[in-house]
Amino acid sequence: MIPYSTQDINEADIRAVGQALRSGWLTQGPSIIRFEKALAKRVGARFAVAFNSGTAALHAAYFAAGVKKGDEVIVPSLTFAATANAALYLGAKPVFADSDLAHGNMSIANARARITKKTKVIVPVDYGGRPADLREFRALAKKHKLVFIEDAAQALGATYRGKPVGAHADMTMFSFHPVKSITTGEGGVIVTNDQKYDKALRLFRSHGISKDTNTFVRKGHGVWYQEMQELGFNYRMPEMSAALGESQLKRLNSFITKRRAAAKRYRRLLAKVPNLILPPVERPHEKSAWHLYPVRLAPGIADKRDTVFAQMREAGIGVQVHHVPVHRHPFYEALGCKKGLCPNTEAFVASEISIPLFPNITRKQQQFIADTLKRILARI
Ligand SMILES: *Cc1c(COP(=O)(O)O)cnc(C)c1O
Repeated sequence: MIPYSTQDINEADIRAVGQALRSGWLTQGPSIIRFEKALAKRVGARFAVAFNSGTAALHAAYFAAGVKKGDEVIVPSLTFAATANAALYLGAKPVFADSDLAHGNMSIANARARITKKTKVIVPVDYGGRPADLREFRALAKKHKLVFIEDAAQALGATYRGKPVGAHADMTMFSFHPVKSITTGEGGVIVTNDQKYDKALRLFRSHGISKDTNTFVRKGHGVWYQEMQELGFNYRMPEMSAALGESQLKRLNSFITKRRAAAKRYRRLLAKVPNLILPPVERPHEKSAWHLYPVRLAPGIADKRDTVFAQMREAGIGVQVHHVPVHRHPFYEALGCKKGLCPNTEAFVASEISIPLFPNITRKQQQFIADTLKRILARI
C-alpha cells in the first residue's frame, strides 16, 4: 500500500540520534536547546519551546494565553480534534467556525460571527499546509483583543506574504508527528516573539515548577529549592527526539521542495478530469507546505466518495479523509454540537479524499495514482 504520507529518515538522522544517546543526556540537555534555537531562527521568531507532542504544545499555548474555565476559543471544525480538545483541557469551550469550501481554511466571516464577550483566543489552522488568511485573522484578533494562536501543525516550511509561517501569530504551533513536515517521532513546538509567553510555556512544560530564583515567591531557601507556581504537566521532549529534529530541520527545505514538485505534478496529471476538483492554486502571496493533496468529487457525484475511496484502497493506494469534522465526533455531539453547525466543512469533508503526498513519492507512483483515480471516476 502506498501510504498517504510517511517520514523520510536518512543515515545522518540516525547518527544524530546515536550521538544523543552516547552524549550522557537523555532529557533536558543540549540537544533541546540547539533544536529550539534552530527552529526559532528558521521561522523568524524570537523564542521556540519544544514539547513532547503538538497537542501538548497547543495545551501550553492556550494556558499561556490565559485560557480559563468559561472562556471561549474559536477553532475551525475542519481540523484534527486536538485543536479543540486543548481548550477543553483548561475548562474552556471550543467554538467551531466553518471553513471556506474552496480551500478548507477557517472562514474569516464565520469566525467573526462567532466572537462573543467570552472569546479569549482565535485559532486558525493551516489546512493541508496552506496558510490561513493570517493578515486578516491578525487584524480581527487585534480589534477584539484576542490572542492569535496559529495551529500550523501541517505547515512548517510554508510562507505567507514573504515571511515563514511562524512569524505571523502571537504563538504558532508546529507538530513533528511522522506525517508532518519534519519528525521527532512525537513532538511539537510553540514559537513566539513574546518573552512573557515563552516563560509561561516553559513553566507549563515542566510541572509549573520554576528553578529560576528571580521568579521565586518565597526567597532565601538553599540551592535545593524549586518552586511550583502553576499546575503544569510533564510535557518535555527527550534529547533523542530533539537530536532527530535538529537533523531533520536541516532537510526541511529539501522536503518542501519535493512536496511542492509532487503537488505540481499532480496538478498536471489530474488536469481536466471530469467531476474532480483539485485544491486551488496558491495565491501569489503564499507558499503551501503541501502536507496534503486533498481532492474533492464534484457535487453531482460526491455521494460516491466512499466507493471511490474503497476502490483506491483496493488498488493499493493509501488514501485518507481529512478530517472528521470535530463537531461531528460522538464526543462533541454529546456536548451539544449538532449536524449543520458548519455546513461547508461537512460538505467539504463528505466529498474529500487525500491522495498520497510525501517527499519521496516517485513519478511512477504518482502516475499510477492519477491513472487509477481517472479509471475509477470514468466508471462511476
Ligand atoms: C497533527 C496535528 C495536531 C496534533 O499534533 P500531534 O503532534 O499529533 O499531537 C494538531 N492539529 C493539527 C491541525 C494537526 O494536523
